[in-house]
Amino acid sequence: MGSLIMHLCIASKLKEKYHFSDKFLIGALKPDLLKMAGAPREQTHYIEQVIEESGVKRLPNVLKYEESNKEHIKDEMTLGYISHLVQDKVWFDKYIGKYAKTDANDITKIKYLQYGITKTDKDFSKDIYCDYANLNKYLAQKYSLDIEKIKNSLKGICLDAKMKEKIDKQFIMKDSNIDKNTFITKQDVESYINDAIKKTSIEIDKILKIY
Ligand SMILES: [Zn+2]
Repeated sequence: MGSLIMHLCIASKLKEKYHFSDKFLIGALKPDLLKMAGAPREQTHYIEQVIEESGVKRLPNVLKYEESNKEHIKDEMTLGYISHLVQDKVWFDKYIGKYAKTDANDITKIKYLQYGITKTDKDFSKDIYCDYANLNKYLAQKYSLDIEKIKNSLKGICLDAKMKEKIDKQFIMKDSNIDKNTFITKQDVESYINDAIKKTSIEIDKILKIY
């Protein structure tokens, strides 16, 4: 998953574009919130294996989610959920794929493509989450996100104390030097957000037209 803040930057632009309510924003965070609450990512993100020449990729199957949620597909919550899956698909396919590759013989080993080194999957998670946290404050300001408002409405929905703690962690705003990130540059995050807005718009337009 990308970070919640990255998802929010994209979702808030789409909310504006389509005149959606905050329900769309909640839907756009829901897959990760469910995962944070303990549901397996395969289920929350409709993950399937895509076999390509370069190897195996595990990406969300957006159509499968749409098929399973046909009856209420135009609900803002559902459209938000779809937007999240499209965003993650772009992120994993184009960006994570540029930074890292899983060793075909040992899936706990991750090759850092720009550095020519191999680390464990746990190290990779730590490094990428550190990058995410470093970008939070910069992105929240750039996309004028009302972090306190969003955080409080999420904590209002998630009554579990552990979940509240996890949400707080995702919204840590600290001054950081993004140039020191292991992987994600400002240019990458910018191009990802624009790319994801475009791809998600195509998906939403398709649904509003077909259904
Ligand atoms: Zn996700």
